[in-house]
Amino acid sequence: MAEQNKESAKPLPEITPVTQPFWEAAKDKRLVLQRCNSCGSFVWCPRPYCSECGSNQLVWTPVSGRGTVYSFTVIREVVGRGARGFEKEIPYVVAWIDLEEGPRFVSNVVQCPIDEVEIGMPVETVFEETAPGIFLPKFKPRSSI
Ligand SMILES: [Zn+2]
Repeated sequence: MAEQNKESAKPLPEITPVTQPFWEAAKDKRLVLQRCNSCGSFVWCPRPYCSECGSNQLVWTPVSGRGTVYSFTVIREVVGRGARGFEKEIPYVVAWIDLEEGPRFVSNVVQCPIDEVEIGMPVETVFEETAPGIFLPKFKPRSSI
């Protein structure tokens, strides 16, 4: 029975010492990214060293949560046991979001009919509690630019 529940559940993020500040901020509905104190680059995904200059002087920094849809796909079918947890949400949108600060973020576009999602659409972050204490940043259409 427990195995069946495990198969029908969506996977949860693995919270590590490196990613923990991101998830703690998400609980407060704040989007934060690492920013390098040496070269000023924003770094995404979370890591111990700057992907541009190799510095370990990374500081968690609040960002706007605003971006635009770079590209997207509509998921209409799930395949495999590992994806069963997503079945009840079909159809849904998986998108690359270009954040105003630069990094490209993979997430869902929500609170929008799927046939209204388009490339270049302005979006902003909204946090959804996917499991107790786990808030995922997703994106909804931006009401004003
Ligand atoms: Zn750097």
